[in-house]
Amino acid sequence: MSECIFCKIINGDIPSRKVYEDDDVLAFLDISQVTKGHTLVIAKEHVRNLLEFTDDQASVLFSRIPAIARAVKNAHPDCGGLNMLMNSEEIASQSVFHAHVHLLPRYSKVSDGF
Ligand code: ADP
Repeated sequence: MSECIFCKIINGDIPSRKVYEDDDVLAFLDISQVTKGHTLVIAKEHVRNLLEFTDDQASVLFSRIPAIARAVKNAHPDCGGLNMLMNSEEIASQSVFHAHVHLLPRYSKVSDGF
């Protein structure tokens, strides 16, 4: 998928701030930082969204999520927890059509503004 911005990030054609990487999965900071440490987790294999995953493709991506979520939380001592979100299709606010999980660290209700 040569036009996909997340494939370009995987290939190193677009820079990213990596949080985690292995042969199959990459996690990097979301450029929008809805909350501090907002992280996207993607499979390196291009799949459009949750609606198109096979069970095996879903396993590859979701098996990494707990450890990455813990790492994100541990990187921010003031983080009390996080939200996990995956938008699938335009009606559900997906804007980049390479499946990705948002991890949104949460802080005190006063400070994170979300
Ligand atoms: P939404 O834009 O509604 O959050 P998505 O769930 O498809 O839709 O999320 C795409 C995310 O990708 C956005 O949060 C956006 O900030 C992020 N993003 C877009 N381009 C980049 C980039 N080059 N590096 C990091 N994050 C990016």
